[in-house]
Amino acid sequence: MLNIVIFGPPGSGKGTQSKMIAEKYNLLHLSTGDVLRNEIENNTEFGIIVKSYINSGELVPDDLILKHLYYKATEYEDTKGIIFDGFPRTTNQAEILDKMLEKRSDPIKLVIRIEVDEDEIIRRMIGRGEDSNRGDDKENIIHKRIKVYKEQTYPLIDYYKEQGKLVCVDGMYAADKVFKAICRILETCSDNIGEEEIS
Ligand code: ADP
Repeated sequence: MLNIVIFGPPGSGKGTQSKMIAEKYNLLHLSTGDVLRNEIENNTEFGIIVKSYINSGELVPDDLILKHLYYKATEYEDTKGIIFDGFPRTTNQAEILDKMLEKRSDPIKLVIRIEVDEDEIIRRMIGRGEDSNRGDDKENIIHKRIKVYKEQTYPLIDYYKEQGKLVCVDGMYAADKVFKAICRILETCSDNIGEEEIS
């Protein structure tokens, strides 16, 4: 299995890139943000609980995320690989994900870090907030999310660097150019990747 983490600040294009990677290489895209928004939309018990965290720019507490995500990830045992988008977001989540994948002998192979300047991510999220009805793409909440990212998620860079799994991509370019750079990385770093064919 080819398990990949796509990593970057909010608004860096993780979702867009993950969708394209999943389609090209026939991987499963597991976006915690999408899973959580879906729960909110369906007004589930879990959705009602997580909504207040998301719309205030906080992370959803680890115990809630892990319980839910663990079930999601085990639902997909037959896939050729998973792209984890928005997960892990804390060192605790990363350690638990590692343990979970270790049990299945399918460790994370690669962590793709998309690097984008702070001014640009703010600009993008404000733009996205005008079109979408995401409750967290509002200017004051955007600043809060960036702060939370720096404090709680940024330390994962060292965590994955120490594991020798981190590769960086310049995310300041247009989405298709960033995607080309990611494809080059995937094809260089992974010997068994082929379009729609991963053994
Ligand atoms: P972005 O990366 O642009 O902030 P996401 O869709 O990945 O967007 O996440 C939106 C929100 O969902 C986050 O701000 C957070 O509140 C919550 N969330 C997503 N993934 C996690 C996670 N792994 N742990 C805790 N909270 C999460």
